[in-house]
Amino acid sequence: MSKTINAEIVAVGTELLLGQIANTNAQWLSQQLANYGVNVFYHVVVGDNLNRVVQTFKQAHDRSDVIIVTGGLGPTDDDLTREAFQQLSQFSLVEHKPSMDKIQAYFKKQQTTMTPNNRKQARVFAEAVVWPNHVGMAPGMMVSFESRTWIFLPGVPREMKALAEQYMFPALQQLMGKEELIKSVALKFVGIGESKLEHELYDLIHGQSNPTIAPLAQEDGIIIRLTAKSDSLKQADELLTATKAKIIERVGHYIYGVNHETLEGKVVALLAKQQKTIAAAESLTGGLFAEKLTAVSGASNVFHGGIVSYTNHVKEHTLGVSKKTLQTKGAISEECAKEMAEQVAHKLGASIGISFTGVAGPTEMEGHPVGLVYIGIYDEIGTHVEKCLFQGDRSAIRRRSVVKGLELLYKKLK
Ligand code: ATP
Ligand code: MG
Repeated sequence: MSKTINAEIVAVGTELLLGQIANTNAQWLSQQLANYGVNVFYHVVVGDNLNRVVQTFKQAHDRSDVIIVTGGLGPTDDDLTREAFQQLSQFSLVEHKPSMDKIQAYFKKQQTTMTPNNRKQARVFAEAVVWPNHVGMAPGMMVSFESRTWIFLPGVPREMKALAEQYMFPALQQLMGKEELIKSVALKFVGIGESKLEHELYDLIHGQSNPTIAPLAQEDGIIIRLTAKSDSLKQADELLTATKAKIIERVGHYIYGVNHETLEGKVVALLAKQQKTIAAAESLTGGLFAEKLTAVSGASNVFHGGIVSYTNHVKEHTLGVSKKTLQTKGAISEECAKEMAEQVAHKLGASIGISFTGVAGPTEMEGHPVGLVYIGIYDEIGTHVEKCLFQGDRSAIRRRSVVKGLELLYKKLK
């Protein structure tokens, strides 16, 4: 027998109300909780104000079985989550020794003195089950109060996720009396649009529920998440493997990786495997491609460097694009992209050169529309230039250009 539980997510933090950050904690928690069959009926955001946090907690307590609070567990005065719940519950706070030892050890290692307010982070409710934080300082907590389950997680998304995965989801499953196990895998696609992918998999997506098949469009491609439920891990794995095989049979050509694998990671790995090296000439992307590639550990084996050739002067004098091309065809042209890719490979001694030139907007340039981008790729076989027209604002066009460049490289190397 399993019982349903209705959960509410309370995010504490004024920066959320001010719009300085988005409430990605609630988004992520909701996505995960849906997989576990937990109903989420409310998302609430409240600023760092004691009275308002207490009021918000009261309201949540009155209407939800499980209340998950993120944020406000840190050392500073505006971190008020503990104080607010204490007002509501009258539970006492005690120092959690293992957490305190860890905080002290951290300051010792950093060779800085610990300010007294840091002790606050080790304070936990005496009645609570304490979940040690392996990623940060403040531990998570779960405490039962008037037949409600209260869960407290840090605001920092990385810490919140780690504690939720390790402790909270299993605890909620236990609460629901479920034996059921949940396992999921994300398949990552590139070079295929969301509608085409859905079309190809329509009957699978709509015709089966274990595993569920959920497509999600992201900036760097499309993800399909398969989530299987079963009472044994082995069976969950089998369910996933069977559905994965069906998907691969139809659209496997577009899959570049699974779970946390990235397109840039794949490109770096392929370059290394094939003992190729790359250099980039970037105009509208201003170094974004280099940034993306160098974020991959091991990039130094394959990435020689880049030239941000933003002005025509740099394109001509530093990179070596011919004056004639710039004068007759312009900087935003197939010819310019071609020469940029070839020149940067030669100048930086790489076997592959990639180039980006185009109009990021918001206004058109040299008579070309916003979003027109040429991406050149030079290698020992020749130079290919892809003409693209991207939608979106300046930032989106720049990022999409880089993703497209990575996609072209991936296809070439695969
Ligand atoms: P800290 O020890 O860092 O003070 P905390 O548990 O007190 O952690 P907050 O101070 O509320 O948490 O948030 C820390 C940081 O985590 C915020 O600056 C913000 O960047 C991020 N963060 C907090 N809440 C959220 C949220 N709901 N969604 C996304 N990010 C968040
Ligand atoms: Mg804080």
